[in-house]
Amino acid sequence: MPIIDLRSDTVTQPTQRMRDAMYTAEVGDDVYGEDPTVNKLQAMAAERMGMQAALFVPSGHMGNLLAFLSHCQRGDEVLLGDLTHPFTSETGSLAAVGGIQPHTLPNQPDGTLRLEDLQAALREDDVHQPVTRVVSLENTHNRCNGAPLTVEYTRSVGEWAHAHQLKLHIDGARIFNAAVALGVPAAALAASADSITFCLSKGLCAPVGSLLCGTEDFIYRARRGRKQLGGGMRQAGILAAAGIVALEDMIDRLAEDHARAARLAAGLAELKELSVPTPHTNIVRFAIAPGASTQPEALLQALASEGIRLSYGHYGGFRAVTHYWIDDAAVDTTLAAFKRAMSA
Ligand SMILES: *Cc1c(COP(=O)(O)O)cnc(C)c1O
Repeated sequence: MPIIDLRSDTVTQPTQRMRDAMYTAEVGDDVYGEDPTVNKLQAMAAERMGMQAALFVPSGHMGNLLAFLSHCQRGDEVLLGDLTHPFTSETGSLAAVGGIQPHTLPNQPDGTLRLEDLQAALREDDVHQPVTRVVSLENTHNRCNGAPLTVEYTRSVGEWAHAHQLKLHIDGARIFNAAVALGVPAAALAASADSITFCLSKGLCAPVGSLLCGTEDFIYRARRGRKQLGGGMRQAGILAAAGIVALEDMIDRLAEDHARAARLAAGLAELKELSVPTPHTNIVRFAIAPGASTQPEALLQALASEGIRLSYGHYGGFRAVTHYWIDDAAVDTTLAAFKRAMSA
């Protein structure tokens, strides 16, 4: 039975062109800075984001953590949304590893933080208080239905942050989904930020890795931080080779994932027992409609018996994520299986 895996875009397997590039990659010792393929990927990433420099890291999590470690001293505070990945899904590493205090603000349904809330959260110059150091945004916002944050909104937060001597970090795990959905270059979304991370290993299909981007000086500190976390890799060009293909081949096609997510959501919305907000990008979130009798576990089981896998439970709902390995037929098969499961 073919498996239709909609749990996440992290389940994506590398493409054949990636496997070929990995096989033939020219490599060196990247801890010495001597891996030509890593260096090429880092230069491409910096250029794409309009930043001076970039660092290849094993995960988006490590990229975010290194950004906070490089911007902050112990005891400093990071302002971030209560539904953001670094707060909900990074094992408390900000506090555990960095001694940095997360100060959460309510994420609005569109993934934004209100400027009034940021202003109210700002600490005073007072010996009792921690130092507010960083604002962190997430684009696209996973738990807010994959919403993209606009250039204008990001600029307004950047201007506010810089007016108060704060740094703006963007967790751009899916920044290219935002860029494609909004029809703007990723660099425009990063323009107001001091640092940004993005993942190669999600919708872009690379097997491993993320990039942290910022100024030369910031990346110099982050490189030392990566070594401190045990994240220095040697012939990492084997991995970076796939990342180069990801940047070359896999960005523009994200529009197809967004179109399939829209079609999947429209089909699911026809089922009375489901409540399905319109997706913004490749993440389709939905819930059992209020008063409906469908049991989530029974629905998941019925779908699993037809080879269809979804995420469930993250903050009370279902998540289906479209990606390179989900074609039109997979969307049709999924919708047909839902209809069967929900009429049974
Ligand atoms: C996936 C993700 C990350 C990082 O994930 P890793 O699995 O550590 O690469 C960070 N932020 C968001 C919003 C994500 O979805």
